[in-house]
Amino acid sequence: MHNDARVFIAGGGKAVCRAIRRALAASGVSQVAGAGDNEPDYADQAAVERFFADFHPEYVFIAGGKAGGIGYNRAHPATLGLDNLLLATHVMDAARRHGVKKLVNLASSCCYPKVCPQPMAEEHLMTGPLEPTNEAYAQAKLAGMALAKAYRQEYGLDYVTAIPTNYFGPGDDFSPENSHVVGALLSRFHAAKHNGDPEVVVWGTGRPRREFLYVDDVASACLAVMDGYSDEAPINIAGGEDLSIAELAAMAGEVVGYQGALRFAVDKPDGMMQKRLDASKLLALGWSPAHDFKTALRHTYQWFCGQSA
Ligand code: GDP
Repeated sequence: MHNDARVFIAGGGKAVCRAIRRALAASGVSQVAGAGDNEPDYADQAAVERFFADFHPEYVFIAGGKAGGIGYNRAHPATLGLDNLLLATHVMDAARRHGVKKLVNLASSCCYPKVCPQPMAEEHLMTGPLEPTNEAYAQAKLAGMALAKAYRQEYGLDYVTAIPTNYFGPGDDFSPENSHVVGALLSRFHAAKHNGDPEVVVWGTGRPRREFLYVDDVASACLAVMDGYSDEAPINIAGGEDLSIAELAAMAGEVVGYQGALRFAVDKPDGMMQKRLDASKLLALGWSPAHDFKTALRHTYQWFCGQSA
């Protein structure tokens, strides 16, 4: 992307959208729309169309829509599925009509089969059943992936899909019931420390493993994909820290300064047992992560404290 490029980040003010905006600003790209500011209603095709006619983006990131942790996924599968399907459908087609030069569509690591060789490489997609706790969301993201490939095939458009691993950072949702594990644990430890609670609940057995990548690294990878990747096959965005949930909980407790005990709530779902992504294709573009996990976790907690002060 050149410095005068017009870039649209679709998907609301989620952490990753704002991080892409920061990464663009740092690389000198200033004509940026979206990322939570004045975005159209993605359920309204005419509104999306008007937005494209007014802003004329040349480059588009689909970095939303609604997402949530394992609790939110189980409670709101229809909301998640519909929101993500409408966003992908309306944005991809408006981008076609308005001559967008390139579109990067973000999917999710939950698009991989529930049982899958680790680390999960792009060719493992669609080789087995999905994890039931997030099936509707995953199916919507898979549909977006199929659509991006179909626009390449039918119209010769440069639409690509990238699959980020679990990410965390400033701007995350920190609500204990709906958010992903990092935000949920930091806010739960924080509350327990302030209330003097003797124990903190961690969902599941603590045995599942997740790979965590800092949101600013996800954003720099999105820019690397926009500038350097053009293929109908998706590309993973990975290269983060692989930890068990028990290890993560111990680190989050330490970062918050919580001294009490952990209780693993085994009536809550574990979800997939492992979810590591193979980063080979991304690393071959010359990208590498710039943030150490523990330092990034501290920054994330400091950001949260700033918000809740
Ligand atoms: P997932 O990768 O889509 O399963 O994303 P999550 O971030 O929601 O969950 C990751 C793992 O963390 C699962 O094994 C959960 O059981 C575990 N976990 C432990 N405590 C929590 C919590 O408070 N919230 C969430 N969302 N997950 C938790």
